[in-house]
This record gives sequence, structure tokens and C-alpha cells, in this order.
Amino acid sequence: MGEILCLNAGSSSLKFALFRADAGGEPTPLAAGKIENIGLAPHLIVRDAGGGAITEQRWTKDDKATHETLLEDLLGRIETSVGEDLVGVGHRVVHGGPDRFAPARVDDALLAELDGLCPLAPLHQPHNLAAVRAVARLRPALPQIACFDTGFHHGQPAVATRLALPRALTTEGVRRYGFHGISYEYIARRLRELDGPATGGRTIAAHLGNGASLCAMDKGRSIDTTMGFTALDGLVMGTRCGTLDPGAVLYLFQEKGMTPEQVEHLLYNESGLLGVSGISSDMRALLASDDERAGEAIDLFVWQIARQTGALAASLGGLDSFVFTAGIGENAPEVRARVAARLGWLGVEIDEEANRRGEPVISTTSSRIVVRLIPTDEERMIAIHTADLLREETKP
Ligand code: ADP
Repeated sequence: MGEILCLNAGSSSLKFALFRADAGGEPTPLAAGKIENIGLAPHLIVRDAGGGAITEQRWTKDDKATHETLLEDLLGRIETSVGEDLVGVGHRVVHGGPDRFAPARVDDALLAELDGLCPLAPLHQPHNLAAVRAVARLRPALPQIACFDTGFHHGQPAVATRLALPRALTTEGVRRYGFHGISYEYIARRLRELDGPATGGRTIAAHLGNGASLCAMDKGRSIDTTMGFTALDGLVMGTRCGTLDPGAVLYLFQEKGMTPEQVEHLLYNESGLLGVSGISSDMRALLASDDERAGEAIDLFVWQIARQTGALAASLGGLDSFVFTAGIGENAPEVRARVAARLGWLGVEIDEEANRRGEPVISTTSSRIVVRLIPTDEERMIAIHTADLLREETKP
């Protein structure tokens, strides 16, 4: 069929991955990379499928590189290496609203619909859509597919999606959606490969990165999750607050006289691990610090994971397996061990050595709960959907 480019566009970064898709089967990875520090001094790094660096480039502020010029540069590099074979671009789009859950071909009507959801995900949605528009301007003939982070949670029981607000608000879409769905869909897929139709049984997957959430899955289907109406709810994150008494938000408005923009910035960018520690949003920096506040931030991070795992285990009516994934989940054995210790009452027992080495199963053989470590691969999931949709469209 040809090559597929997957894009995950943020405010100052662009993650990408290139896959080769054939007539059938899963696309195979060719290269992946990211451009960081966009707007200041962008830095591009591209790695081959084995993880070896193949290209690196830095721009200075004087180069005036924008998201669009950098994307144009990236498309140029890809076309130089794969010729005319780029057949589609798949995007991570954080919010699909109440009606969009399956991956969809992007057109003007869909873009307009997704634009309307920007206030629900101000940190991500505008940047995701800007990348779609930039590709449309640069390569108008290239098909683009949107994959929604909310999609995997579609089909949750209604009670899990409801907020206890007046019904008129629920009807207008003020409800729980859940996010990180592309990551959880990939985890469910891996669990099916590892465990067959049981797919881990009653599983809680913990996606612990800069954004962090838990998803309760029953045989691979999402039935509850910690993020809600927006990606602010749930766990303590790098700079986001997680679960919060709405009375605290009223206090910020009424007693502190803050504007909506100031409150939004505080909740999305100044809270979480950064806010509590006053040091960093980066778990590596906090683990390396001997400052008491760093310890308090990690304590709260672990406490909330354990506390909200208890809630999701109740939604599932029990627990058979627990999965760690994403930056912290995959790379921080100390955090995994501390979470596991708090889940001992549920029957979680960790093999210290397996945990330290980061093995695929880190629970002991006598643990009632199987604890797995599954590296997530959102780009691969986007490539799978993009290839499937393009194949569907070209079917005779
Ligand atoms: P994003 O949500 O931006 O995709 P990631 O999944 O890459 O984020 O996760 C980023 C987080 O993972 C950061 O807090 C970072 O400190 C943490 N992390 C990455 N590697 C390690 C490590 N070796 N030890 C501890 N934390 C790590």
C-alpha cells in the first residue's frame, strides 16, 4: 500500500512515526522521532525502528521556524526517503466529543466539529487540529485520519459517564469522556495477544506519563476511567491538578479574584507534581531530589494512584490484573514498587528483582493479581487505524 505518517502534535512538540503498510496485516515501523522546543530553539531527532539515531538537527531562534515550516521540512525529508509512497497521515486528536469515537477521514465539516471541542481540551486539541490544517495546506491531496483519545471509552455504562449536575448540562455534553484511549486500546490489544480472549480479565491499566490516568477494563473494554469531562480530572499529573473539589475553583474566583484564564493556567500548567514540589514536573528530577517537597509530591502521586485504583476495582467488582505503562510506568521501578505496596490489600505482590529489571510480568507467582509492564505505542495504534481505514476506502 505505502507509508503512513502518524502525528501527535502538542504546543511545543511534534511526535511522529513512519510505518510501512501492506495490503494486509499490521503496519511495520520504519522510523520515529520528535521535534521539541518549537517556538524557541527546535530540535529534531529521528530514530530508526531499532532505536538508533538517524538524523538530528537544531534550529536557532533566528531561523524563525514555526510548526508549519517544521512540518514542511519533515514531510520533505520523508518524501525524499520514501519517494511518492506516502499514502496517508494519521493524527492523534484528543477529543472526539459525544459523537465521534471511531477513527475518521478528516474533511472541513469534521474539522469544524472538532474545533468546537477546543474549550474541552485547551492544552491539546488546538495543536492537534493545527497540524491537520497544516498538512492539508502543504499536501492537499494526502488523506488524513483522526484517531480520538476519547474513542476507546465509548460504550462505558451510562452511569460511569454521568456527572451529578442538572440534566440539561448533561444533554449539552457536560459529561465524563475519558482520555488516553489510543494508549489503552493498544494495551487491550497486547493483553489479548498475551492472554487470549480473557484479555487480562478485570484489569486496571495505569498510563503514567506527563498526563496520567487509570482505565478499568473488563475483558479489554473500558468500563470506567479517572479522567472525565476534561483531561484535568483523576490522578496527580506533571502540571495538572487531577481530582479537585470544585469548591477550590470557586475560591480561586471569588476570594482570589482570579480570571478564567488565570485559573485555567493554574490548573493545567502550575499544579500537579510541579505545583506540589515547587521544583519540577519531571518524575526523574523529583526522584533524584532530596528536597522534602519532592518527596511529598511523589507521596501524593502514589497515594492518588492507589486511592483511585480502589475506586476502579469497585467499578469492576474485583481485579485480576494491573498494567503499568507510559514514561513513569515503564521506567520508574521505585514508583511501581510504592504503588504496588499500597495495593497489597487487593492481593498485589511484586517480585522486587523482576520489577527492578523491568520484566513483562513483575508480580510474584503467588500474587493474586498479575502485574504487567507493557510499553505503550500510541503511534502504532494510529497507524493500524489509518491503514485499516485507507484499505476500507480503496476496497472495490
Ligand atoms: P507524555 O505524557 O508527554 O508522552 P511520557 O509518557 O514520555 O510523557 O512520560 C514522561 C514522564 O516519564 C516524566 O515525568 C519523566 O520524568 C518520566 N520518566 C521517563 N523516564 C523515566 C525514568 N527513567 N525514571 C523515572 N521517570 C521517568
